[in-house]
Amino acid sequence: MSKLMEQIIPNRTLTNGLLNGLNAQFQSAGPDQALLWGYRTFGSDMVLGTGFGLSGMFLIYRLWELGIRIPIFYLDTHLLFDETYALKNRVEQRFGLPITRVSPELTVEEQAARYGDKLWESNPDRCCYLRKVRPLRNYLSDKKAWVTGVRRSQSESRSDTQFVEWDPENEVIKINPLASWTSDKVWNYIQGKGLPYNPLHDEGYPSIGCIPCTQPVNGEKEDERAGRWSGLEKTECGIHLSSRKNVE
Ligand code: SF4
Repeated sequence: MSKLMEQIIPNRTLTNGLLNGLNAQFQSAGPDQALLWGYRTFGSDMVLGTGFGLSGMFLIYRLWELGIRIPIFYLDTHLLFDETYALKNRVEQRFGLPITRVSPELTVEEQAARYGDKLWESNPDRCCYLRKVRPLRNYLSDKKAWVTGVRRSQSESRSDTQFVEWDPENEVIKINPLASWTSDKVWNYIQGKGLPYNPLHDEGYPSIGCIPCTQPVNGEKEDERAGRWSGLEKTECGIHLSSRKNVE
């Protein structure tokens, strides 16, 4: 492991062979080892991004338990549910961790004045770009690694998620410690530890984003992210898998 790290850091060269080696190790080692490797490698140039979903709550807790203190941030589109903001406050109080708010350049009103009302209906890719993708890129511009809660089982489009990946959009190493975990496994852990979670999960929302683009799902017939941009072809906002179509 340390040999791989040494090869990655000095010249930032990530070959497929190096990535394959790391990913093979994390497949059996579990999420803690991915977090510890990331911290030993990148220190506080590694950050955790969360939307306060189940995976995010797991990762916040594991970082706290492991004594890893790195910046934690969320993308505040100004369109999140009250329950999400309340959970953010609860997490800060319980774990004593400040969580950085990353905001878009435009308020919702300014966006409406420039691009039209309810841009999430007329051009959701542009809306996501303005409110999520670009703020994320700006925030990550001086970081080296980004920890996420992305899991393969969340949707078909995420099924090939690796534990460690190069993110060419943001030019950082992306670490997905829960890549191989199922929702049930994360959920059991959250409940077993009595960790806080978003109460909307109990109301049929397995995945929670902005209010206009989040719906409850139809039981177990649909995948976890089926309630996001329901009725549209869009399945991703673009921060994990690019959905940009000339929106700049
Ligand atoms: S999820 Fe919807 S409201 Fe939120 S940024 Fe994307 S399009 Fe806009």
